[in-house]
Amino acid sequence: MTGTVYLVGAGPGAADLLTLRAARLLAEADVVLHDALVSAEVLALAVRAKIINVGKRADRPSVDQRLICRLLVRAGLRHRVIVRLKGGDPHLFGRASEEIAACRAAGIATETVPGVSAAFAAASSLGVSLTSRGVSRSVTFVTPSRGEGSPANAHWAKAAAAADTAVVYMGASQAAAVREALLKRGVPASRPVALVENASAADEHILRGVLADLPGLAERTGEGPALMIIGESVADVRAILNEASAA
Ligand code: SAH
Repeated sequence: MTGTVYLVGAGPGAADLLTLRAARLLAEADVVLHDALVSAEVLALAVRAKIINVGKRADRPSVDQRLICRLLVRAGLRHRVIVRLKGGDPHLFGRASEEIAACRAAGIATETVPGVSAAFAAASSLGVSLTSRGVSRSVTFVTPSRGEGSPANAHWAKAAAAADTAVVYMGASQAAAVREALLKRGVPASRPVALVENASAADEHILRGVLADLPGLAERTGEGPALMIIGESVADVRAILNEASAA
């Protein structure tokens, strides 16, 4: 008998942003394989599981994706409940399809439990909507980061420039390149931007400015994961009025 591999969204960091389903599966899990971005508070819910860190961060030695797939298959053949815990939502910049394909090829069932993606945590922290009547009717999630083996192209920049609101994942270390790519495609240097580091966590850090400032803002972030949001909705006048009246 084989087990089931659950790809579980761990949310942006704060443990109480986990879904009830995620918390239940963590409590039942025999094995948990988790990413670098998953907080200790969330892992503490896996009371009986063997916990394996397969975290990848751009600046540290990474566990090869093929190895992660092999570990998942091996766990699926030996255990009943296997949780593959990923930051945010597993199906957004999470390489979930590769892991699902590897499990299915080995006859192991998979299920995904969605999570709160960083974009939504960051928008909540900013108090702005990613869409806003009269301001933003489109949102795009992009990354300038290619990942090993992917061909170079500028589709991300085209999509980000075309959207009313662009949410840039894994881009803070390439802020200058992001600014250049967007300016080149006609985005005004005055378009509002926000950088949110460690969204939803106690050490959350918010920086605001305009596209022209993006590299300077990114330099002021620390080691934590950071998201850049670019668009008029970041400076939506209604949100600003609310802030002013709350002050
Ligand atoms: N699947 C995840 C994204 C993984 S890619 C999700 O849905 O959120 C990793 C990138 O996500 C980071 O480089 C950063 O850009 C962003 N990110 C993840 N957690 C974050 C957080 N708490 N605050 C800000 N950005 C975050």
